[in-house]
Amino acid sequence: MLEEIVTWLSSNFDLPAIKERPAVEFASRMKLATMRAGDGALSEGLTNHDELNQPGQRQVVALYNDKSKTILLPDDWTGTSPADQSILVHEMVHHLQNLGKLTFECPRAREKSAYLAQDEWLGRFGMSLEHEFDVDMFTVLISSACMF
Ligand SMILES: [Zn+2]
Repeated sequence: MLEEIVTWLSSNFDLPAIKERPAVEFASRMKLATMRAGDGALSEGLTNHDELNQPGQRQVVALYNDKSKTILLPDDWTGTSPADQSILVHEMVHHLQNLGKLTFECPRAREKSAYLAQDEWLGRFGMSLEHEFDVDMFTVLISSACMF
């Protein structure tokens, strides 16, 4: 599964085809949310980074830790649905960004390609980010802009 995603990402997006796998761990959604909150808005994006983190906008679904190269998935993740797989796709983008030492203007800028890849993956199944996760591309673009 991971190899398939890396191959797909590197051939469709400007990402390196690095074969080093991330560690994958599972945690409850509660724990994920706590970890996300613990990371705090001040250190946004430094270690456990994820997502459009406007309060209340949506639940944390997964995290990627740059230091330990670990993808944290919710324990109800099964990987059988395109939506589940797309979460892994999103986090794999962060893994490749991390390993490839890609640089970004600001931490949140990394979300743009992660969400684009996620949306594209869903699109292969006739689904979309907006439909499955209630995240529209306009929000993604605004939220990943380095404005402040
Ligand atoms: Zn992300």
